[in-house]
This record gives sequence, C-alpha cells and structure tokens, in this order.
Amino acid sequence: MKASVTNRGAVLLGKNVVCDAFEENKPLRVVTHAHADHMMGLQRSLKTSEKVLMTKATKDMIDVMRSPLFLMGGPVQTLDYGKTIQYEEERITFFKADHILGAAQVLVEDPEGKRIVFTGDFRIQDTPVLYSDILVIEATYGSPYCRRSFGIDVKNSLISMVEKGLKHGTVYVFGYHGKLQEIMQILHKANVKAPFIAPEKVFQVSKVCERHGMNLGRLMLSMEREARELLERNSPCIAFYHMESLKKVGLDSFRICVSGWEFDSAIRQTGDKEYIVALSDHSDFNGLLEYVRRSKPEFVITDNFRVSNAEPLAREIRRRYGIPAVALPKR
Ligand SMILES: [Zn+2]
Repeated sequence: MKASVTNRGAVLLGKNVVCDAFEENKPLRVVTHAHADHMMGLQRSLKTSEKVLMTKATKDMIDVMRSPLFLMGGPVQTLDYGKTIQYEEERITFFKADHILGAAQVLVEDPEGKRIVFTGDFRIQDTPVLYSDILVIEATYGSPYCRRSFGIDVKNSLISMVEKGLKHGTVYVFGYHGKLQEIMQILHKANVKAPFIAPEKVFQVSKVCERHGMNLGRLMLSMEREARELLERNSPCIAFYHMESLKKVGLDSFRICVSGWEFDSAIRQTGDKEYIVALSDHSDFNGLLEYVRRSKPEFVITDNFRVSNAEPLAREIRRRYGIPAVALPKR
C-alpha cells in the first residue's frame, strides 16, 4: 500500500514520508501543525530522520509552545506552501490547511505519477481541495451525528456573547492554542473595545500569529500590573486562557468555552454565567465528505488513530461515492 496509518498514529505516505508521529526507517518526518496529537515522537524523529519538515509558522509555534531548544540541533527544514522538495524519486509539496496558523496538507507524488495526499486537520471553508489518487483524511467529526447547521452565525454569536459578558465585568475565554488567537482576531475585527489579556504562553503564541500576518489587537500579559489590577477588580476586559486552566481561573466571572464538539446550536448555556460557543477548526461530517467528493481519489484512508469517528466516515464514503475506503489503524 502506498499509504497507511500505523498503530502509533504515524501517517505513512509513499516510500519516504511519515507525518505526525514517529516511524522507523522513514527519512522524512513531516509535522502538519503544532497540535500535540500531531507532534508525537518528534524527539525521536529529530534524532533519526534525515529531515523534519514543517512550515515556518509551525516551527515558530513549536518554539514558543515547547521551547526554542526543542527543535534545535535537529535536521529541521521549513517549507512554504506550494514549494516542492524532491527526495529520491518522490516530490513533496505542502498546501495550506485552514486549521491553525501554519497548518499544512501534504502531497507526495511518486515515480508512477500517483498523488498521495494527507489533509492533516482542516476546515473545508478555506482549505484548497487537492486532487488525489490516494487520500488520507482526518476524521475528527466523521460521524453523521457531527453535522453543524449554524455555520457563519457562530462568529456573531461569539461577539454578542462577549459583549453581553463585558457588562458584568471580566470575560474569560477558554480554548486551545491557535483557536484563541482566531477569537482575538474575530473580536478585534468586530471592534470590541475591551483590553485583551493573556498569560505568558498564550501571549507568546499570539505574538507568533501576529508575526505571520494575523491581526489581534493590543494584548497585555496577565502578570503586568495594569492587567493584574483589571482582573482583580473584575473590570471589563477579556482574558484568554488555555483550556487546561478551565478549572483554575475566573471561576466566579463570566466564562466562555470554545469547543467544536457542539452540533445543535451555536451557543449553549452550561452554568449561571457560563457558555459554550461552537467555534470549530475542523470540518464537520458534511465538510469531510465534500473534500472526498472534490478530491476524486480512487482509495481513501480515514485516520482512526486520533478520534473514534473514522469507521462511520469510511462507511459513508463507500456508500455514497462507491470509493473503497478503510479506517486505519484497525481497532
Ligand atoms: Zn489540530
């Protein structure tokens, strides 16, 4: 087989490329983006691969999310979208994936002219669909229960929810790296006037996003005096925290969690002053199928390592399009 997903979550493409987890005897390791479930075994890959490929933005993200020492000394090579590198008889090209800053889809063209594509994580809206012969596709929302009907309203709902919260004082927004910065951009663009505050890691990731062209507005570090005072007095401002701080900060304040795992409505109330907003950086079930339809593959592998929705997605691809499809690894 020209592609596979191993029991350790490594996505194998062609002869030489492994994406998003460690695999022995593959000279080229690709990191599609800086989320933890796509950086597995990276230290081992840095020691044993000939090259570790990622976009410049992904490298910058890893430098701040881990440490600048993390990648140092490894054979890291950054590759821009649309640029091709040749390795032996294969050609490797990255294309944009609309997910978080720096996210890439990977195309491997083999000597027989087969196009082997891995989407990585993506949202269909702003992701170019690549023609493929063999397609490996993410399956986070690969179940028919994962369909969103509300689309564009989410952004407006988020903005009005934040504005409502600011009337009570500080609004805490919880999300993952990349998503938090997307929210800052949405609020900044909507002219929401309250100061933005973030702890150090979120702040540093935001600076990387700004360096790569995102427009986030003015952001204060949470340990600065001015920011500390705003938070202590529960003054109107917006504090952006990683999901892991959910149970640690802003417990008595107005809180908004941003999560993709919501399908019935754009907003759901979960407490007295607590809401979930359904802003996702992944395609829903329909978006995944749309990618497959437009990509026109002859064979599809759904990523069954990172989530458990790969089987129903493979089944629907076979049923709807008559394209052979398997969920890998087998569970
Ligand atoms: Zn991701």
